[in-house]
Parts: sequence; C-alpha cells; structure tokens
Amino acid sequence: MTSAHATESSARAAFRPAVPYPLFIGGRPVPTTDSFEAVDPSTGSVWATLAQATSEHVEQAVKAARDALPKWRATGPAERQAVLNRLADQIEQDGAWPTLLATENGRPIREAEGADVPTAVAIFRYYAGLVRSLGGEALTTDDPDLRVWTAREPVGVVAALIPWNSPLISTALKVAPALAAGNTVVLKPSEFAAASVVEFGLRTADLLPPGVLNILTGYGPRAGAALVANPGVDKISFTGGVPTARSILHAAADQITPAVMELGGKSAFVICPDADLDLAVADALLGIAFQNGQVCFAASRLLLHDAIRDAFLERFIGIMRQIRIGDAVDPRTQVGPLVSAAHRDRVRSHVQRAVDEGAELLCGGGTPDLPAGLDGFFFEPVVLADERGSTAVSREEVFGPVVTVQSWSDEGDAITRANASDFGLAAGVWTRDLARAHRFAAALDAGTVWVNTWFDVSPGQPLGGIKHSGYGREMSAEALLEYTTSKAVAMRLSSGRPKMWG
Ligand code: NAD
Repeated sequence: MTSAHATESSARAAFRPAVPYPLFIGGRPVPTTDSFEAVDPSTGSVWATLAQATSEHVEQAVKAARDALPKWRATGPAERQAVLNRLADQIEQDGAWPTLLATENGRPIREAEGADVPTAVAIFRYYAGLVRSLGGEALTTDDPDLRVWTAREPVGVVAALIPWNSPLISTALKVAPALAAGNTVVLKPSEFAAASVVEFGLRTADLLPPGVLNILTGYGPRAGAALVANPGVDKISFTGGVPTARSILHAAADQITPAVMELGGKSAFVICPDADLDLAVADALLGIAFQNGQVCFAASRLLLHDAIRDAFLERFIGIMRQIRIGDAVDPRTQVGPLVSAAHRDRVRSHVQRAVDEGAELLCGGGTPDLPAGLDGFFFEPVVLADERGSTAVSREEVFGPVVTVQSWSDEGDAITRANASDFGLAAGVWTRDLARAHRFAAALDAGTVWVNTWFDVSPGQPLGGIKHSGYGREMSAEALLEYTTSKAVAMRLSSGRPKMWG
C-alpha cells in the first residue's frame, strides 16, 4: 500500500463548522448546555462540537413533529413534490457537502463527490416522483349496495435513527419517503457523523415548514434510547448494528411501536471458473475497499473456485498493495482512515483473533506510513485466507477493510457456504454462464443479489435484508408502504338491513 500526501489543510479550512452545532427543532437551531466533540478521522483532531440532546429535547422534538403533522399530511402531492425536489436541488448545488462528509467520517472525498451527493439527490428526486403514486384501491364486493376502498395514510411521527457511514444518503433514505408519504420526522444521526445532518437541517430550514423535520444529536444510549422509547413516536426507522437493533426493539415492544430494521451484512462474493477475472477483481476491490469496508454491503467473504483462486489472488492482492491510503479530503486518496480509534482497534482485534484461530494473513494489517498531521485512524486493508470459513471473522461483521478468502470446487458447496451466515443483506456471483447465474441468483439467501457487478443500486431497487440483516425495504416504492398505513372504508349505499333484532 502506498501513502503520500500531506494534509489537505486548505480544503479543510474552506469549510467552517458552526461553533458549536445546535439541535434543530421546530425549524430553528436550539443550543444546549451539554455537548460532545467530533474528531476528524484523518487528522485525529477535534474539528467540531455538537449538541447533546436531553430527554427534554426529545420531548420538544417529538412535540414539534406532532404539531406540524396535521398541516403537512394535508398538503397536496404538488407541494410535497416541490419540497422534495428543492431538497434535492440544495444538495446538488451546495458545493460544501464533499469536504464536510470527508472531514466528518473519513470517507474519501472522491467517493463523497461520486457517490454520496448524487445518490442523495437521486433519492429525493425519486420520492418526489413517487408522491402521486400514493393511493388506495377500490375493491370488488358481492353486494351491489356496498362500496369498499382503501386509502394509504401517513403513519404520523417517524423516529429515524441512522449510522455514521453515509449520513447524507441515510438521511435521504429516511427523510424522503417519510415526507413523501405525509409524515413528520425526528432524525437522530450517529454521534460519529452528526454535523452533516445538522447542516442539512440548517441549510434546508427555509424549504420545509417548521417541525416537519427535527434533528437531535447526541449519544445513542442517551438521545437515541429516549427517542425510541417516546410514546409520541408512531414508527421507528432504524439503520445500524444488530446489538442496537435488539435494544431498540425492546423499547418498541413496550410501546407497540412498529419498526423498520436495516442492519449489517457479511456478504459473499462467489467467483466461478468462467468469470471475467479482471472485472471480478475490480468489483471485489470495490466491494471491500470502497469506504474502507465500512459499508453494510461490503463484499467481505470471497468464495473463489479452485481453478482461478491463485490467479485471482495474485491480481487482487497486487492491486490492494498499491492502494493510495491518505487524507480523506485529498482527491487522490483511494482509502481513508477508519472512523475512530476505537473502531480501528476493533478491526485490528478481529484480524488478530482470526490469525489466532488459524486464518492466514495474506496482506495488510499494518499502519501506513503517513506524513505529519495525519495522525488519524489508518489501517492497511487486510486479506485473510480462511479456507473453510471456520474462524469468527468469516461470520461476524467487521465493518472495515477485512476480506476473507475461501475456495470451492462444487457449485452446491459454494451456495451452501455463501448462505452459511446469520446475515442476508447481499450476495454476488461472477460467471459468464447464464444458466449458472440464474441458479445462483435463485439460491443465494440475500435481499440483493448482484450478478457480475457489485454496489449497483438504482433508485427504485428495494434495499434491505433477511435474517439478522433486518426487515423492511428502502430506496423503493416499497418504502412508502413502511411509512403509510392502509385504511379500509366500507360504505353502504342502501338503507335496507336484514331483520336480526326484532
Ligand atoms: P449503531 O447501531 O452503533 O448506531 C446506529 C444509530 O443508533 C446511531 O444513530 C446511534 O447513535 C444510535 N444508537 C446507538 N445506541 C442506541 C440505543 N441504545 N438506543 C437508540 N439508538 C441508539 O451503528 P453504527 O456503528 O452507527 O453503524 C454501523 C452499522 O450500521 C453496521 O452494522 C452496518 O452494517 C449498519 N448499516 C446498515 C445499513 C443498511 O442499509 N442495512 C446501512 C448502513 C449501515
């Protein structure tokens, strides 16, 4: 792995964080007495201060969302479409987003520019287009005097809790369908990527009626836990890890609050002997090096056919060793830092444990040699051979740049091993054989199956998982069903009644 450049201090200086960041409730900034610090993962230095919401702030935000609900749910499709399109325009036209995103969580700026910003824009525009599709159906009945129809109504106040890895995309995935369907939202970003979400609230304050979107920052077990336990919340929409999901679902059970759960993954990437190896290598690198493997969809398990194993690994590791690791705000950087020191240590300990359990370290795992000023949380991407997938690292989500390699010779065995996971978010197969591609697509247990590609996600394509990867779907028309309830109306046209009561 190579590393070069000095810190891009000029790019950093161009973006000025609010001092300190407030909460955003009822359409206005709300300062707090308690706060916490955000660290730039490239430099290891504090770059912003954020508000720590208390349970009183949670009450205020839920009340603001509740107060705004009657007017917002009564808006017509044209108005909601216009608002969602204006939110998309803001993201598209405001040049601050890439630097902010790269500073906040260490995502390479080329990815922030090429993926986060356009994807968030596309999601808002997609749901703007879908607003007019919201509707019910007229049902047929056997009784000519009876009319029955359904209407889809907003669920009410949505508590949306999001992770740190793609805060702008996660904001769009939650806020766009919820608002499109006529709900109001209290959004709780991760403590590791909160500034961009507050910026979103502040920069779009004039575009939304007060209270329609509220933003609470703070630690998950404090602000997040208070939000999901609040009886004023009508629906919880959560994206994050399995342990947090369990805790939130316990709170949801107490209030009978319905929930959507978008959780982690341990996705298998199966390469058949007839695959185009150069493309498969490129996609596998994208699958694990993109955002430093800190993606729910990371392709973290490679299942290589015996016939191509060595050739694949030679190319894959050869390129992996040349990856440019560096400052996230530097456009030349291919892989940035991990999000925090604690996370880097966790990733490192996953690797150490795998080696202790018998996996072979094929490359990476060191700390790159970086110029002064880059004192952040860097870690060289790791390839581990774990031929039978028997170590914990082949089962657990690392959420970092660690990929395991298994090999196979029998198609049935490859499918069995690809499916041998508690998770079921995504899986992929590389083959030129159409029949084999179909067999794998049908047999792989995952919410998304990619064939000869990875990370291809278009607006409209349902995103979500099975098993411990959660339930519910985002990015698609199905998400509107999550944010609406079905009301059935039965209307009798005649006054005649069967004689039952004398
Ligand atoms: P996390 O579960 O630690 O935190 C997610 C959110 O929940 C944050 O806002 C956090 O503050 C909040 N939270 C934490 N503890 C809480 C509690 N006790 N009560 C209420 N809220 C609480 O996850 P993370 O580390 O931010 O993100 C990484 C995880 O997210 C990975 O598992 C990753 O796979 C998953 N993820 C899934 C998807 C998807 O679409 N399926 C997308 C991105 C990330």
